[in-house]
Amino acid sequence: MDISSKTPKIIVFDLDRTLWPFQVDKDTTNPFRRTEKNTVEDASGKLVSTFPQVFDILYDLISRGFVLGVASRIEDIMGAYQLLELFNLNSFFTYKEIYPTSKILHFKELHRKTGFPYETMVFFDDDERNIKAVQQLGVQTFQVSKDGIDKKFVLQSLNLDSSH
Ligand SMILES: [Mg+2]
Repeated sequence: MDISSKTPKIIVFDLDRTLWPFQVDKDTTNPFRRTEKNTVEDASGKLVSTFPQVFDILYDLISRGFVLGVASRIEDIMGAYQLLELFNLNSFFTYKEIYPTSKILHFKELHRKTGFPYETMVFFDDDERNIKAVQQLGVQTFQVSKDGIDKKFVLQSLNLDSSH
């Protein structure tokens, strides 16, 4: 579907390998904490961070009036919430669906809570299986490359100019 034919109302992001370059369940152990150097580390002292432009991307989308959401199958739900808070991303997201099962269920829940038609929802995820699953609902999907998300990709996907 041509993105311009349906104005997005909510933009939803996966977490692992989409907003940050690791997998919470496989690569890290909670609790996470902020260090004296203002970095974030897991329980074993491993440093973790988002992809570089993530805060800027989300700030930009919020300032353009979009509603933002998270759809993640992370099993360490507490860890995921800790990271959103420590990365200062939590307040950007009005809706957070974080639990195992299927992205189909995440989007059905987002649809129920927001009342937005699936065609007005946009989803960014690195995993082709999730992309294909959610596409079946009519959601507009964009696959994030292995290099992670960047602002140019997000703005181009949404047909937004960068001069905002
Ligand atoms: Mg992912």
